[in-house]
Amino acid sequence: MIQQIAFVLILGLATFFIRKRVLRIRDNIKLGKNNSITDRKSERLNNLLLVALGQKKMFKKVIPAILHVFIYVGFLVINLEVLEFVIDGLLGTHRIFAPYLGSFYGMLMNLFEFLAVAVLLACVFFLIRRNVMKVARFQSAEMKKWPTLDANLILITEIVLMTAILTMNASDQLLQGRDEHYVATGNLFFSSFLIPALENFSTSTLIFIERFAWWFHIIGILGFALYVTYSKHLHIFLAFPNTYYGKLEAKGHINNMPVVTNEVKSMLGIATEAPAPPTEPGRFGAKDINDLNWNNLLAAYTCTECGRCTAECPANLTGKKLSPRKIMMDTRDRMEEVGNSLASGGAGLNDGKSLLGDYISKEEINACTSCNACVEACPVLINPLEIIIELRRYVSMEESGAPASWNSMYQNIETNFAPWKFSPSDRFNWANENK
Ligand code: SF4
Ligand code: SF4
Repeated sequence: MIQQIAFVLILGLATFFIRKRVLRIRDNIKLGKNNSITDRKSERLNNLLLVALGQKKMFKKVIPAILHVFIYVGFLVINLEVLEFVIDGLLGTHRIFAPYLGSFYGMLMNLFEFLAVAVLLACVFFLIRRNVMKVARFQSAEMKKWPTLDANLILITEIVLMTAILTMNASDQLLQGRDEHYVATGNLFFSSFLIPALENFSTSTLIFIERFAWWFHIIGILGFALYVTYSKHLHIFLAFPNTYYGKLEAKGHINNMPVVTNEVKSMLGIATEAPAPPTEPGRFGAKDINDLNWNNLLAAYTCTECGRCTAECPANLTGKKLSPRKIMMDTRDRMEEVGNSLASGGAGLNDGKSLLGDYISKEEINACTSCNACVEACPVLINPLEIIIELRRYVSMEESGAPASWNSMYQNIETNFAPWKFSPSDRFNWANENK
């Protein structure tokens, strides 16, 4: 009974804090502008199934992709076992499904163990890749301190949790032969390798090890679930909505600003599809997170910090300050700052800071060539270029702060309808010269 009460308390606390954090993330995303995305539902669903569930874009590099799939499938499937943990914890039972599933239970446990070993090996590989092989995209300036610690913590936690499952199963198998309370599971292949290390222990010690591993695993899983909401690992959940709401237009397509489009059309005497809005158009472009669309903010929480975008970015590769990964990380960090401030009754967006300037500099956004290489590289359909363009729009249109050479180009477009400083009436002079 004491164990059941302790379990209910721990489960209740974990649920409370996870729910609180999920609501905070939802509120932070809602700081963005409303952007209704209800079109092309079947294409969107297709993207969700292929890119988020099928991890299609990961397979550009086969070995890391397979290992990543092991971690991902392992995470999803092994957590089915948590259902049994929760029911056992609430009812005070032990392996409640075993009598009902018969030999199928043993098969399921062997599948879980196979995935546990696959996850464990994949995590060891990824730890070595990050910390020993020092793959370049994990060593950039924005990856110092917390992002690297976060990635390592996640990998180490998964290794420890998988080891706990295997240890629990190994001691359980030994106890099945010594204590009638332990339900027969049949031979569990992978955890059997741990039996020689445990078989000389007394029954009471084995019961302690089995119970300790059980509690460690379930508390670890609940703690992990809460931790994920603060970590880049949020992508395991948010990749689904992010791929669904991802951009479907061709990569070169840049969204016009409706207010500007209508203004230009009315100057040219072209009828506009919709009447110009009667109210103030608001800010041109984006200075802070509330000027971005909510789906840009969702993307920032979805970013896995994998750096595939930065590794392909020509500006970054030629030594410029720009890193599309940092653009997404900065957007998320600013969201967190504003969200935390609002939650504690602070100034929120009016704290005297902004995404542009305090997090992302003009030097970074001006280095972007709009090539879309980062968009193409992203495994979860994130579009850092959309944010960069909105920030540049703000600098150009609200601050007139574009580089001088761009300003003279803008002026030429305005007065000559072309980037060059020739009058439109002189356009056909070249034909006269050839007469
Ligand atoms: S669009 Fe900009 S940020 Fe993205 S890869 Fe090209 S230069 Fe880099
Ligand atoms: S934007 Fe995409 S490619 Fe870039 S770090 Fe984030 S998840 Fe990786």
